[in-house]
Amino acid sequence: MAAPQRPAHWLGGRSPLMKSLWAWPLVLSLVFVMGVARWLHAEQEDAQEALRQSLITDALSLESQLNARLEAEANSLRALADALAGQAMSAEGFQQHPLVLDGLRRFWISVSWVDAQGRLRAHAPSDVVPPRARVRGLEDEGGLTGHLSVPIQSAQAAEMASRAAPSQGQLVARYSPASILRQKLPWWLASKYDIRLVDLDDDVIVSTTTGLRQPDQPWYRVPMGASLPNAWLELTARQRVPLWWQSMPMALMGGFLLLVALAALMLRQQMRSVSRAEEAWRTEAAWRSAMEDSLAVGIRARDMDGRLIYVNKTLADMVGYRPDELEGLLPPMPYWVPDDLEDSMKRHRRNMAGQAPREGYESRWQHRDGSAVDVMVFEAPLVDAKGHQIGWMASILNITERKRLEERERKQMETMAHHARLTMIGEVASTLAHELNQPLSAIASYNAGVLNSLKASQAPEPRVLQALERMGEQAAHAGRIVRRIREFLTRHEPQLEPCAMPEVVHSAVQLLRRDIARHQVQVDLLLDPQLPEVRADAVLVEQVVVNLIRNACDAVGSMGRPGCIRVGAELSGQGRFVKVTVADDGPGVAGGTIDALCAPFYTTKTEGMGMGLAICRSIIELHCGVLDVECSVLGGAAFSFSLPVYQGDETS
Ligand code: ADP
Repeated sequence: MAAPQRPAHWLGGRSPLMKSLWAWPLVLSLVFVMGVARWLHAEQEDAQEALRQSLITDALSLESQLNARLEAEANSLRALADALAGQAMSAEGFQQHPLVLDGLRRFWISVSWVDAQGRLRAHAPSDVVPPRARVRGLEDEGGLTGHLSVPIQSAQAAEMASRAAPSQGQLVARYSPASILRQKLPWWLASKYDIRLVDLDDDVIVSTTTGLRQPDQPWYRVPMGASLPNAWLELTARQRVPLWWQSMPMALMGGFLLLVALAALMLRQQMRSVSRAEEAWRTEAAWRSAMEDSLAVGIRARDMDGRLIYVNKTLADMVGYRPDELEGLLPPMPYWVPDDLEDSMKRHRRNMAGQAPREGYESRWQHRDGSAVDVMVFEAPLVDAKGHQIGWMASILNITERKRLEERERKQMETMAHHARLTMIGEVASTLAHELNQPLSAIASYNAGVLNSLKASQAPEPRVLQALERMGEQAAHAGRIVRRIREFLTRHEPQLEPCAMPEVVHSAVQLLRRDIARHQVQVDLLLDPQLPEVRADAVLVEQVVVNLIRNACDAVGSMGRPGCIRVGAELSGQGRFVKVTVADDGPGVAGGTIDALCAPFYTTKTEGMGMGLAICRSIIELHCGVLDVECSVLGGAAFSFSLPVYQGDETS
């Protein structure tokens, strides 16, 4: 597992440009298709231009061929006219003239000889109706024929080439443009074009097709010139240049665009789901980061070399560094105590070897400001997604405050024990003084009696008298010493002030919580929080409660089973006293009276001293209270004491 990273955006942020990433392939494809379309359009225009060029060339070429043909026919007619000039040829002779027959074999439908006055002199062939004289147009036979006419002149006149020369008539040959076209049209032109001859009114004279020209067919028209005036030769290309958007590449491009659009849509879906997942991941990472930072527990991840790969903010704050200052560091760590580096290193090696105690271990670190930080460290293996160990993960508790409290508590206990010892010594001394007072007084009286007797006798031994006097003095001295010691040890006056018994009881239970736990005793507190305060020295009364609870624990513990203690505080004596009772389910006191139990040095415990209850009684009586014992409802003993309720300012 890699160290948890701060959230990073794989799309480099949520800019609109990145959000529309899915549409980029579609846009690029559109640009590409537009390029292809443009290229196809240019290709189409080139092809159309090429077709037009060849159309024009072919039209001009055909027109010149047809004109050449007509010119040749005109020349033939002119040769006939020359042959007829100045000759009186009969109509039959004309019809049999070789040039006439030759022309009729070619394209001429008929040939007429008209004299200078416009009268028909001869016509060939004889079965064909002659045209109306001087027809120049194409009206005959539904406009499907053409005419060639040449004047008949003598040779001299022709040489003079004068327009004013007298004419001897005219030869008019009727021909079929369709025949000319049919015979003279090259096959390759016929296969490429529809060819028409049209007049000025767009009426078709001759056409190689019966169909009409379509609007999208390229065509070109050239005038036929003098040989066929008022007629146009029109070529219409059969081949059409396909429109660019109807071509195969465009169909393929269309399909391509469709597929790209589909792919873009799918990409968009995918990106949205990735984006949603990323959003969820980012939220989760933010949550996790916030949780980690808000934890009271420090977290530390190390790789197999012991390098810190992650620390959370809590841990960094614990030792006064920033997380980035710690991440990447190898031991020795800056938060190790400089005087303790060797031990820290040993512990580190042990942890790296996987031998850190499972229940955690305590350690002492050093804050950046030099203060000591006590921590509890729990080490666990760090594994990646495949289950391979890649380092160590530790959770770290700051126990500095707990340690400080424990230390304070320990010192408090020591002080209390010291006080208890002092109190006990005082009580012992007091008891001794009380107990020794009588024998010493007796010694002094006896001594005085003996001394008086000796003095009353005759010739008393002065040395005996002196010794007895000294003895009396020493006895009195011993009595004074004992009294002084007692006075000294019990001289201190209790600090009587208002004090709340529930608080005193809570404090005592708190002090004894280890003994309670050790004896597996359950302590129930029945403390009325509304109780009035008592007038007492809280420290001394706390010692009494501690002693009673400790005795109850010992009694319960002696049964060899988990037991129960009930500590109650209530009003008694018509509200003038607060009575505190410590009851247990131990063996009880077997009818023992409070006087017997409180007798100095009375104990049933092997290591007991028998002064506890005696001291308790002295303290309670010092407060004008009463210590008592009775049978507990729980089955054991119930020790109780009463203290007077605090009545406002009163002197002790
Ligand atoms: P110590 O605890 O040193 O024995 P104490 O004066 O405190 O001295 O107690 C005197 C004796 O009173 C104890 O040895 C015990 O026999 C008896 N005693 C005190 N408290 C209890 C109790 N709760 N149940 C039974 N016996 C008790």
